[in-house]
Amino acid sequence: MNESRAPISIDQDTGLKIFATRAAKATERIAGTGYGVTNDKALKTLPEQPAGAVFNAEEQAKYREFKEARFGAADYMSLEGDFATYLEDVYSDDPIERDLLTDECEILVIGAGFAGLLLWYRLKQAGFTDVRFCEKGGDVGGTWYWNRYPGIACDVESYSYLPLLEEMGYVPSMKFASGFEILEYCQSMATKFGFYDKCLFHTTVDTTVWDEDARRWTVRTDRGDAMRAKYVVLANGILTSPRLARIDGMETYQGEAFHTSRWNYHVDLENKRVGIIGTGATAVQAVPELAKTVGQLFVFQRTPSSVDVRDQKATSDEQRDEWAREPGWARARRARFSKISAGRTAIKANDDYLAGKVADFKERKAHDRPLSQTELVQKQLDSNFRIMEQIRARVDAIVDDPDTAEALKPYYPYGCKRPTFHDEYLPTFNLPHVTLVDTAPLGVQEINKGGVVHDGLQYDLDVLIYATGFNWMATSTFNMIEGRGGVTLSEKWQTQGCKTFLGLHSNGFPNLFIVSGPQGGGGSFNFTDAIEQHADYIVWMLTTMRDARLEVVDITTDAEDRYADHCAQADIATAPLRDCISYYNGEGKAEPGSLAYYGGGNWHKFRVSAQESLEPYVFAAASSQAGES
Ligand code: NAP
Repeated sequence: MNESRAPISIDQDTGLKIFATRAAKATERIAGTGYGVTNDKALKTLPEQPAGAVFNAEEQAKYREFKEARFGAADYMSLEGDFATYLEDVYSDDPIERDLLTDECEILVIGAGFAGLLLWYRLKQAGFTDVRFCEKGGDVGGTWYWNRYPGIACDVESYSYLPLLEEMGYVPSMKFASGFEILEYCQSMATKFGFYDKCLFHTTVDTTVWDEDARRWTVRTDRGDAMRAKYVVLANGILTSPRLARIDGMETYQGEAFHTSRWNYHVDLENKRVGIIGTGATAVQAVPELAKTVGQLFVFQRTPSSVDVRDQKATSDEQRDEWAREPGWARARRARFSKISAGRTAIKANDDYLAGKVADFKERKAHDRPLSQTELVQKQLDSNFRIMEQIRARVDAIVDDPDTAEALKPYYPYGCKRPTFHDEYLPTFNLPHVTLVDTAPLGVQEINKGGVVHDGLQYDLDVLIYATGFNWMATSTFNMIEGRGGVTLSEKWQTQGCKTFLGLHSNGFPNLFIVSGPQGGGGSFNFTDAIEQHADYIVWMLTTMRDARLEVVDITTDAEDRYADHCAQADIATAPLRDCISYYNGEGKAEPGSLAYYGGGNWHKFRVSAQESLEPYVFAAASSQAGES
């Protein structure tokens, strides 16, 4: 039972009330590990690359057909109405009651995942302590709080992915740490850095409205708070709101059902008939674990993922010793990691390069002359094709049934959909109690009270799991952010197209910073890298304003127009490499440059130039100096 809680204390420096709102774990059944080390070497090898294979007209036609057959098939819905219950927090006990708040802080941050935790660490270092965090979940972790499905692990090597490893004196136990380990790591960071005192858990921000006269944001929450803040930082993630496939009859299903980001550990899966819809990165990790528990498993696939070698490794004593002797090892490693641009090389990453033992991560071929953009893209498509041939050959080498193997082969450029890595996923389809149901190209179209119907066959299920993903880069749609003139960020982007400067500012939304939102480059595909760059930038801006006694910052429309145009052009130039149906490109429908942007180097050029000239910014001085700027 909940008690109403007054503040446990008052912060001596800031006067902010401190509450203990971290919720207790809902059940001890929530536990797990990611994938362990596989000893079967055969599962860790890729067949040889077909020498000289090129992405010729015939192969291009095959990819085109694969894509066109699926165009328009993706149909998703938010978890609303009857499905809103799927959003409930199944990981924590009920929210802890507390007084509602109407006070003011300097910086209000929405989100207590990696971005919130890292930002707090940096803000504190820079002397900003009048900070409050609001978090929807009952504890820290963000993605790693919500995603606790069996088998969860990071897909970017953990030594480069986990922030602040040196500061924490921590070394992950595996090259790809389990999500459960990462969640515990977030909790340790929060404890060590005094974050729990700063955060209001189980507090969802509903509206964030700019008050032009007061030069403050008013932040209202589902707990009845109406707090004020000088600055607001959106640190609420890139894949935050889960989505469901919209399927006829889904509301009539009478068994247990849940989305992978709210894994219901109260539902016993042992020996049950279980169906999972979707075969993206989540399902690739969850399916092998499900197969170890359930009686019968049906995997409903519309489009196969590319499943590359995982080669999981336990962290060795030698690595620990080496890093203990090398101050700054993780930061240096992440910096090297970020130099590896993208694609397969990035994730397979050469260990010797990452450890700083060799100077480059691959052998580079010298060209006799500079290549045009078109030639460069064609070269990339050819080598991309050879990688995909290996991925497809791996399926044949592992999966026994030829029809199942054929259905598991992806025909699109590598990296166009989120590449996945696993050594146990493909062998799972050789197990007698596991069935791949190929629903290509349109996907599951019908659910009834007993389960899924496909091609006239009824698949009766005790439990139905939706591994149907999340809305991508939907930051503007959260928390109803209303800026100058009563326009919301979402309305602005819908009418004008996505417009930001560096992904961090948007004109008309003063004193608002967006971490890892659309157009927010600066890092590699390792989002921790981007989060660090964004946190550093925000701290730079806040320090600059504090030192110059400035109170408001906005961005010029000219600066954001030029930056948005750059993002669009960069997207168009490399479009053939993303020619498939993917959430990355809004299922093939997003405007160029309106979603994620990975232009690390160019992002930094825009940033450095802005920081040196200050030209893109429109500042207003603190009230006592009003009129100056
Ligand atoms: P996702 O990649 O969006 O996958 C959704 C899946 O649902 C797709 O396979 C989709 O098929 C399928 N689907 C949708 N409607 C369907 C229907 N009617 N019938 C059959 N299938 C249907 O979602 P996710 O797997 O949760 O992954 C989301 C992202 O989270 C990842 O890409 C990754 O960035 C992140 N993630 C990271 C990790 C990690 O780092 N360890 C792990 C998990 C997830 P189509 O492809 O045909 O649309």
